[in-house]
Amino acid sequence: MERPAKKKKSSQMLMPQYFLEKTLGIGAFGKVKLARHIPTGLKVAIKILNLQKLNASNAEKVRREVKILAAFSHPHIVRLYEVIEIRSKVYVVMEYMDSGDLFCHITVRGRIKDDEARYIFQQIISGVDFCHLNMVAHRDLKPENLLLDSNGTVKLADFGLSNMMVDGHFLKTTCGSPEYAAPEIISNQLYAGPEVDVWSCGVVLYALLCGRLPFEAENLSYLCSKIKSGIYTLPGHLSIEAKDLISRILVVDPVARITIPEIRQHPWFCLHLPWFLSVHAEEIKERSKLINKDTFEETVGCGFSHNFLMESLQNKLQNEATVTYYLLLDKRLRASSPFIRYGFNNEKEIETAKRHLRKSTSTNFNNSMQQQMRVSPRSNLPCQRNWTIGLQTLTHPHKLMLDALSALQRLNVSWKRIGCYNMKCRWLPNFSRTPGHRLPLDMNSIPVDEPSPQNAVKFEMQLYKAPENRYLLDLQRVSGPPLLFLEICASFLSQIRVL
Ligand code: ADP
Repeated sequence: MERPAKKKKSSQMLMPQYFLEKTLGIGAFGKVKLARHIPTGLKVAIKILNLQKLNASNAEKVRREVKILAAFSHPHIVRLYEVIEIRSKVYVVMEYMDSGDLFCHITVRGRIKDDEARYIFQQIISGVDFCHLNMVAHRDLKPENLLLDSNGTVKLADFGLSNMMVDGHFLKTTCGSPEYAAPEIISNQLYAGPEVDVWSCGVVLYALLCGRLPFEAENLSYLCSKIKSGIYTLPGHLSIEAKDLISRILVVDPVARITIPEIRQHPWFCLHLPWFLSVHAEEIKERSKLINKDTFEETVGCGFSHNFLMESLQNKLQNEATVTYYLLLDKRLRASSPFIRYGFNNEKEIETAKRHLRKSTSTNFNNSMQQQMRVSPRSNLPCQRNWTIGLQTLTHPHKLMLDALSALQRLNVSWKRIGCYNMKCRWLPNFSRTPGHRLPLDMNSIPVDEPSPQNAVKFEMQLYKAPENRYLLDLQRVSGPPLLFLEICASFLSQIRVL
């Protein structure tokens, strides 16, 4: 009987600024507790992770989540305030979402009416779009990871399985809950990232509107075969537009699947779209760089010096002053109108923002709550860019792939098929210059993975779906001399016929 009290006392001593209260939930890696930030009296959720109990790969997932969340500031992504490491424990202090998760919401309510489901879905897409803009694929979108607050706001949480996307690089890890996982994940194929989140959003949308999942089975192997075949039923109560959107999302071929920008244009999505959810992710990113003047002053009022707070915010430091600032800011945002929540002063500003996407707004210090100050840009997430070459075309993907492969064949490039639209390629410059030399036609038998001579160029070729029915053919150097890569790219360009 003594033990829990002792435990509480020790964590209290180790984290004097937080008072731990009830357990909110138990996740894969540890408990999530409700806590109170003593200096402000505001509630937070603290994920407690025991590093000793995590293996190397899970510890990596935790690090990934922390790194990604710490860099994000978006109205539909749970905010991370600070990370405290004490001995073998890590305390991840997050924004508290007081109305549970979407899973409970659907379980309690059953299927949700079009208008409410649409508003929830519009918010999810806003958060997902922001992740993709920052080159992050969530990869585990499901109702359990979509948290709600009492204002009806939905936020993305649990970035443990998220991964950074690098242009032209592909992810492979099988991850996420099978019911929400895209066919290419189930089939263990490479994927670029956004398309698997789109699929999961489609499953979530289906669950919202139908109160059940599109792919369900008694065992995993049957579930996987159902997902891979992409066969599901659309109940008769769904509107034509909702059916159309779902059937454009739950498309097995990732290249033919609708993209986030296309979802944003879809008639079902656009109906009753609040102006603040039509704001482009780039604009929201710009707005998140502004400092709310009233919150700034309130934080200074808590005993932090003006200069210290300003410098800490500008340099994105995690300290008591910035934690207090963001907690007070979130309290203010929760109580304010959508204008303020999305960083705008009035409707006129949003219209201007829509017209001039990247143009920053001038500072207005006249209104009390709406006053904001610009800080030096928050640096983006590390986003390594490799050498890529992209060709955009309206040509049908199959035709384009056939053309690209015969161009590679003419150039004596050997390749290995990774997926329908993804090839691992190798070019040996001297080899290809041997007049009349031809590689065997069975390209899959070519040992692309074998160690290559120093001047061999290895690259990947991938076809992506781009907006407006376009397809993007991308070549990315994996290894080998960059200049030789450019040489093969130039030859490839001259050989492509469908462009
Ligand atoms: P898992 O690791 O299983 O994905 P988490 O560890 O992220 O789950 O969270 C476990 C549970 O804790 C969630 O299902 C949710 O009920 C609760 N929870 C997590 N984060 C928050 C939060 N920010 N606010 C309120 N409740 C939360």
